[in-house]
Amino acid sequence: MKLIYTNENRFIVNNIKNIIENTGIEITLKNEYIAGAAGDLSPFDTWLEIWVENEDYNKAMQIVDDIDNADNSHDWFCSNCHEKNNASFELCWQCQSERP
Ligand SMILES: [Zn+2]
Repeated sequence: MKLIYTNENRFIVNNIKNIIENTGIEITLKNEYIAGAAGDLSPFDTWLEIWVENEDYNKAMQIVDDIDNADNSHDWFCSNCHEKNNASFELCWQCQSERP
């Protein structure tokens, strides 16, 4: 298993998880149930992580790269909270309003 993506924002991680799952790649989420009960853990330890099987790594990594490299001109701004959102997101990562 290899880690392909992590981010402190769990909504962004979930978005990427959904995109990868839609391509038929099976993923494993780690740290899904730690947040809120972190205790002595540093915030970084509670970041949600997406892991895939080794044979899916290259394909999954390509998808993450495509998301990261998406043309910035397609990024959009939330009409509710004015946060900038990645072009691949259908919902605002911050307030989860629908894309305008
Ligand atoms: Zn918003």
